[in-house]
Amino acid sequence: MMAQYLDIKAAHPDCLLFYRMGDFYELFFDDAVKAAAALDIALTKRGKHAGADIPMAGVPVHSHETYLQRLIKQGFRVAVCEQMEDPAQAKKRGAKSVVKRDVVRLITPGTLTEESLLDARRANYLAALALVRGEPGLAWMELSTGSFHTQALSEATLSAALARLDPSELLIPDTLPGRAGLGDLLWRDYANIVVPIPAARFSAKGGEARLKTFYQVTALDAFGIFDGPELAAAGVLLDYVELTQKGLLPRLNPPRRQQAGAVMEIDAATRRNLELTHTLAGERTGALLATIDRTKSGAGARLLAARLSAPLTDPAAITARLDAVDYFCAADDLREDLRSDLARMPDLHRALSRLSLHRGGPRDLAAIRDGLGLAGQILLKIEQAAAPNLTPLPALIADNLPKLAQHGDLIQGLRQALAADPPLLARDGGFVAKGYSVALDDFRLLANESKRHIANLQARYAAEAGVASLKVKHNNVLGYFIEVPAKQADRMTDPGFIHRQTMAGALRYTTGELADLESRVSKAAEQALALEQKIFAELIALVTAAADGIAACADALAVLDVSAALSALAVEQNHTRPILTDDLDFDIQGGRHPVVEPALARANEADFIANDCRLEDGGTLWLITGPNMAGKSTFLRQNALITVLAQMGGFVPAAFARIGIVDRLFSRVGAADDLARGRSTFMVEMVETAAILNQAGSRALVILDEIGRGTATYDGLSIAWAVVEHLHDVNQCRGLFATHYHELTALAGPLGNLSCHSMRVREWQGEVVFLHEVGAGAADRSYGLHVARLAGLPGRVIDRAETVLETLEAGEQNGPRDLVEDLPLFSALRPKSGPVGGGGKPTALESELAGIDPDELTPRDALEALYALKRLVESK
Ligand code: ATP
Repeated sequence: MMAQYLDIKAAHPDCLLFYRMGDFYELFFDDAVKAAAALDIALTKRGKHAGADIPMAGVPVHSHETYLQRLIKQGFRVAVCEQMEDPAQAKKRGAKSVVKRDVVRLITPGTLTEESLLDARRANYLAALALVRGEPGLAWMELSTGSFHTQALSEATLSAALARLDPSELLIPDTLPGRAGLGDLLWRDYANIVVPIPAARFSAKGGEARLKTFYQVTALDAFGIFDGPELAAAGVLLDYVELTQKGLLPRLNPPRRQQAGAVMEIDAATRRNLELTHTLAGERTGALLATIDRTKSGAGARLLAARLSAPLTDPAAITARLDAVDYFCAADDLREDLRSDLARMPDLHRALSRLSLHRGGPRDLAAIRDGLGLAGQILLKIEQAAAPNLTPLPALIADNLPKLAQHGDLIQGLRQALAADPPLLARDGGFVAKGYSVALDDFRLLANESKRHIANLQARYAAEAGVASLKVKHNNVLGYFIEVPAKQADRMTDPGFIHRQTMAGALRYTTGELADLESRVSKAAEQALALEQKIFAELIALVTAAADGIAACADALAVLDVSAALSALAVEQNHTRPILTDDLDFDIQGGRHPVVEPALARANEADFIANDCRLEDGGTLWLITGPNMAGKSTFLRQNALITVLAQMGGFVPAAFARIGIVDRLFSRVGAADDLARGRSTFMVEMVETAAILNQAGSRALVILDEIGRGTATYDGLSIAWAVVEHLHDVNQCRGLFATHYHELTALAGPLGNLSCHSMRVREWQGEVVFLHEVGAGAADRSYGLHVARLAGLPGRVIDRAETVLETLEAGEQNGPRDLVEDLPLFSALRPKSGPVGGGGKPTALESELAGIDPDELTPRDALEALYALKRLVESK
C-alpha cells in the first residue's frame, strides 16, 4: 500500500494527498505534519518507512469538506485519491492485493465548485496570463458559474486588470518569475496565488486548437476576434481545468472578449484607497460594496460586485443600465415583490456547474426545478405590471424577459421526478418522488412490507420462546438478527433459532424466515437504489441538455436582481439618476458620501452636509485647503465614488450629477503605509504618484490627498508644488488636490485652470466648529492644534506646541534655536496652568480643592463644596 501511496504522491508533489482508506482520507509523511498543524487535528503514526515512523493524520470522509475549506483558505492544494474498486474485488486478485486507487480531482483555490467551499456572494476567478512575443494577454473563468473572458492588454494596464478581477489563482509562464518588470510585479503582489506553468504550454496556436475542440467548432469567429496572447491564456486555462478535474469538463460559456477601454481603469492602490470592496483594514463591512449591496440572490451579489469593480465607459451602455434602475424606482410594489421572490432564488449557476461536472446531488436538481419555476413567476409579474402601462419596458429588462421562461417541460419533468425536499447526496437514494416510476414504487413497497413483516416477527418470536425481552435488531455485519439477554438463552431451544454470535451479555440468533425476509429487503432496496441512480443520471442529462438556456436564465435573473437592488438603494438613500456625457463635464451638486452619510445616520450623529463640485473651465483642478477633520478627505472620495457609482450604472448620492465619462480613476493618499510589501511610507506615496503623473490622460479623474506629507516640510512642499504644476500643464485632467501646504494656493494665479477651495469653519467662544462646507477661496490655517486637543493630547504638550507654533509663524530668525534653549520643562509648564508640581503659591481654587476629601463628604456636603468651588471660579 505504501508503494502505491508513494507512486501517487510522486505524481502530485505540490498537493496534499487525501488518500482514501475506508471511511477516512488519510495523509502521510510531510502532508500529515502540515495538515495536522493547519487543521489542528491529531498527528499519529502508522508503520515504518526506511526505518522511521510514518507520520499520519486523517479526516472522516463524511465531514471532509469542512477540512478542505480550511486547507484551501490557507492556500493549500489538495489531490483527492479515491478507492476505484471494492476491497472485495481486490481480494479476488489475492489476499494481499491492494485496492486500486487513483486521484479523481485536484482541488485548488481557483477551481472550486462546492457550495461549502465557495462564498455565495463572491466570484471565484481562475486566471491565466500569457506572454506571446512580449505581448501580454489575460483569460479568466469561473468554474462554478461557467463564465469565461479574455482581454488583450499592455504591461501598463495589466496591474489594473488583475486588481479588478482579484483572482484566486493565476497561471503564469514559469519563465516569468525573476524577470524584471512584469515578473517583479507578479511576484510582489500575487506571489500567493501564482501557479507557474511550463512556458511552452502557452501557445496561441495550441490555445486556438484547444478552444475549437472544447466548443466543437471549426472556427472561433462566432465568439469574436482574439489576439494570440489571449488564445494562449485561454488554452492554458482549459488545460488546467482538464488537469484538475481529471478529464471531466465543466459547462463553460463561449469566451467573451473584454474590449480595450470598455471599462474604467482603476488600479490596485486606488481601489484600496477608495475602499471599493474592502476597507483599508481588509474588512468587507464598511466598504462601498457592502454599503450599497441590496441584492437578494448570490448571483445578483456577484454581478453587483463585478459591475462595481468594472464601471463602464460607454454612455449608451450605462444609460441602458440606468433605465432599468429607473424603471424599478417608479414601480415600488413590483420591485419589492420581485425582491422577495429573488430572496428565495437558489443559485442556478452553481448548481448547474456541479451537475455538469457530475458532482451535483439531488438538491442541485431541486435548485434548478425551483429556480426555473420562480423565474417563470417573476416573468409573469413583470409582464402583468407592464401591461396597463403605455411606456415600454426598458431594453435591458425587455431583452432579458424571454430568457426567464423557456423551460416548461424541464420544470414539469423535475417536479414529477423529484421529491419535494430531496437529500443532499444521491448515494443513499430517497430522492425520486412517489408515483414517478412504477417499478421503483414496487421495490420500495416490497422492501417496506418486508421490513414491516420483520417488525411483526419480534412479537411472534418473543411469544414462541417465552422471552419478553427478545428483540429483532439490525447491524451492517449480521443484517437482521434476534437478540436475547444471556440469562434467557436457555429458552431458545426451538431448532428454528440458529445461533450466530455470543456477546458479553447477550446471544444473537437468526431464523430461515428472517434470513429470507432480509434478503428480500436488501435485494429490493438494492434494486430501488440502482433504479434511482439511473433516474438521477437521466435527470442530469435533461438538465445538461438545457444548460445554456438555464445559464442564460440565471444571468437574466442576476440583472433583474441588481437593477431592483440599485433602485431599492436609490429610493432608500435618496439617490438621483446621473447624466453621463461624452465631454469633460464634472458637475456634482449637493453631493454626499455614499458610505459616510449612512454611517452618520446610523450613529445618530449630525446630518451629512452636501457639497457641490464643479470642475469646469478656469477650475478643472481644485486645490482644497482647510483644517484637519474638516472633511477634505470625505469630499475628495465622495466625488470619486459618485463617479464610480454613476459609471457602473447606479444612481448617485447627489441632487444633480453630470459627468463626462472618466476612463481612468486615480486616488492616492499621502503617507499610507505598505509595510507588508516592504516599502516605506514615503516610497509608496512617491511610486503611486509617479504612476499617476505618467499615466493620467485628459479623461482621467485624479484625487490626491495630502501628497508630499511623508517627508521633510520643504521637500514635501516642493514635491506637491511640482505635482500640481504637472497635473495642470501636462496631464490636463480633472482633479482634486487636498493639502495642508497653504503656500500652494499661490499657484492659482499663474495656473489658469487651478482654483482654490476650502473647508469652512467657524470660531465660536474660542472653539472651532467644523461646518463641513466647501467654499471658494483658500483656508488661512489648519487648526491642527485644535484637533490635537480634541484628540486628548496632554495639556502640557498642547501648550508647548502653541509656543513653538507662535515662534515659527513669527518667522523669527533665531526661532528654532531659542526654542531649543528654552526647554519645555521650564517654559511650557510655566505660564498657563500655574504651579503644577513646581514652586509658587497655590491658587485659591487649588487650596480649596486640596482641602476636600471626597470620601468623607455626604452628598449634601459634596453639593455645597461644588457651589463653593463654582463661586471661587466666578469671582476670578
Ligand atoms: P484630515 O486633514 O485630518 O485628514 P479631513 O479634512 O480630511 O481631515 P475627514 O477625514 O474627511 O477630514 O472628515 C473628518 C470627519 O468629519 C469624518 O469622519 C466625518 O465624520 C465628518 N465629516 C466629513 N465630511 C462631512 C460632511 N460633509 N458632513 C458631515 N460630516 C462630515
